[in-house]
Amino acid sequence: MLNSPTTVVKGIGEEKAKDLYELGIYTVKDLLEYFPFRYEDYRPKEIQELKHEERATIIGLVQSESVVRFFGRKKSKLSVRILAGNVLLTAVFFNQHYLKTKLVLGATVTLTGKWDQHRLTLTVNECKFTVAEPQESYDPVYSVGGKITVKALKKMIASAMEQYGHLIPEILPPVFLQKYKLVERKYAIHKLHYPKSFEDAKHARRRMVYEEFLLFQLKMQALRKFHRENSGGTAITYKREEVEVFISTLPFPLTSAQQRVVREILTDMQSSYRMNRLLQGDVGSGKTVVAAICLYASVTASLQGALMVPTEILAEQHAHSLKQLLEPLNVKVELLTGSVKGKKRKELLQRLETGELQVIVGTHALIQDEVVFRRLGLVITDEQHRFGVEQRRTLRNKGQNPDVLFMTATPIPRTLAISIFGDMDVSTIDEMPAGRKPIETYWAKHHMLERVLGFVQKELAKGRQAYVICPLIEESEKLDVQNAIDVHAQLQQFFNDYQVGLMHGRLTPSDKDAVMQRFSKNEVQILVSTTVVEVGVNVPNATMMVIYDAERFGLSQLHQLRGRVGRGDAQSYCVLLADPKSDVGKERMKIMTETNDGFELSQRDLELRGPGDFFGSKQSGLPEFKIADMIHDYRALEVARNDAVELVSSSTFWNSPEYKYLVMHLEEQGVLAGDKMD
Ligand code: ADP
Ligand code: MG
Repeated sequence: MLNSPTTVVKGIGEEKAKDLYELGIYTVKDLLEYFPFRYEDYRPKEIQELKHEERATIIGLVQSESVVRFFGRKKSKLSVRILAGNVLLTAVFFNQHYLKTKLVLGATVTLTGKWDQHRLTLTVNECKFTVAEPQESYDPVYSVGGKITVKALKKMIASAMEQYGHLIPEILPPVFLQKYKLVERKYAIHKLHYPKSFEDAKHARRRMVYEEFLLFQLKMQALRKFHRENSGGTAITYKREEVEVFISTLPFPLTSAQQRVVREILTDMQSSYRMNRLLQGDVGSGKTVVAAICLYASVTASLQGALMVPTEILAEQHAHSLKQLLEPLNVKVELLTGSVKGKKRKELLQRLETGELQVIVGTHALIQDEVVFRRLGLVITDEQHRFGVEQRRTLRNKGQNPDVLFMTATPIPRTLAISIFGDMDVSTIDEMPAGRKPIETYWAKHHMLERVLGFVQKELAKGRQAYVICPLIEESEKLDVQNAIDVHAQLQQFFNDYQVGLMHGRLTPSDKDAVMQRFSKNEVQILVSTTVVEVGVNVPNATMMVIYDAERFGLSQLHQLRGRVGRGDAQSYCVLLADPKSDVGKERMKIMTETNDGFELSQRDLELRGPGDFFGSKQSGLPEFKIADMIHDYRALEVARNDAVELVSSSTFWNSPEYKYLVMHLEEQGVLAGDKMD
């Protein structure tokens, strides 16, 4: 019944039902579970509690005759003095001059409107000549669109509730309700639409939030389970001793976090599951060498490995690092980007097809049809969230179910990680190589530029190098490039004893490469750049990072940029040039100076900006929740996640009647049929 179309509800015909589609409401259940996104609070307040511009309800006594002025056609303004508590204020009504006769001296009124703190004036929208009843205190506000008004929607919900409300089943097992003291489902849904108190709505919401998270996490965990069990991956029997020898010949010992993630990844590779793992670690935590070890392991099993990255510069850097690490072991590593052309490209593709070429590093050039592997065993993609799901799938399909490892240097707050990557296994490098000195970060206003440049000068005098970053905002690449060109000219003049390089997105790949090469060889001491150097670039002699207009960047992005320095033994510095206007902007600059920890920073960024903005404007694959909020309800999310993990792995879950509704839900979602697997 609850799954019937909304037309079974009295008062909803074909027409209205169609209007409801616009809101994503198809069934009675959808309608009943279309929750308000907030409640208008009609509880009367004291004047002293009110904030400027706040919408509020007050109770008062009429203290004066009403004064009415007419203007224009049919327009009027009525003013009257009201005593609320011990405050005398002015109430203003627009176009309601007829109230004059009712607003008699001494009458008690309940007024709702917008409060002007400076003028002690309430602009009234609603006026009652009684004291409001408590059950009228909370008015649910629904998001509507199309032809549907809030009023009409409320009526339809009321009608559905009356006819079908009693059929709402409990879907959570009783032990869960007891354990978390959750209210029953039917009660919760009713109270969300008709709360009698704030507490009512809170308890109801708490219950539905948990339910929503649990269902979501069950789906993720079930997907993960089936994925592992049915993925038909290849067991990569790598040569353990050879891998260990490789690790022991590295110029540094692995950190224990690196050792742990290597173990996790190699275990996955060796198993017959198809690996679907995310490797996250802060900038500079040493992910590249982990990638190298895993690629090498795959080579020892006579399989090929691929590393896909989002930009050419990064591809070049990685190819360079991997060659350094792997060529001494006789492993053939090559770079494939859009700029590898002609004969060279043809030859490279051929070597890949015969299997002679063992490791390939590249941009999305790797996923073109012409690229054929002989036996691809492991695919690693760096900066995971920049590639679309489709691109990742294409690359994965090039092999015989190769293992897949996603790497990201954007530490993802746990709340987001378990939502977006809940169906993946996650390995985290949560430790920096020993001996790293934390980067000292300062925030300076732009008028202090000269002092900042003096600071840069000092570092250069010590033989160090510096980055200067000018923002690149997508809407106007042209202007920003011009900006970088101007800054470059200025700095070349200021630092006339040094070489100043310029890097931006409009340069040809070979020009970019040339600039980068010169910078890494210290032929260029200062690199003025747009954000193209954001990821991956590794020049340990650079100790100074200056970022212009830092307020225009996200915290995670600033952190990435900052991560370009602090890669050697010397103390490094980062200066943020910024004149933020807003408090949030100032707060963000402050956070940058306070912490070097990417995880802490990303958590605080998330709290400041919200999940939608966290990954920037592009679609981020964030799940949408009806009622839950990933940030504010993160405790519930974690609890639900743990419960889901436990349920899915327990043998009783799939058969016990207690979990009938939960399993049914998974069935409805197509999880059990495996059709959501990719
Ligand atoms: P990420 O890609 O995680 O930002 P990289 O892999 O580029 O970091 O590593 C940053 C630097 O740290 C590189 O110069 C690398 O050689 C070095 N490095 C990596 N692991 C260690 C370690 N265990 N001890 C010392 N240095 C390390
Ligand atoms: Mg890296």
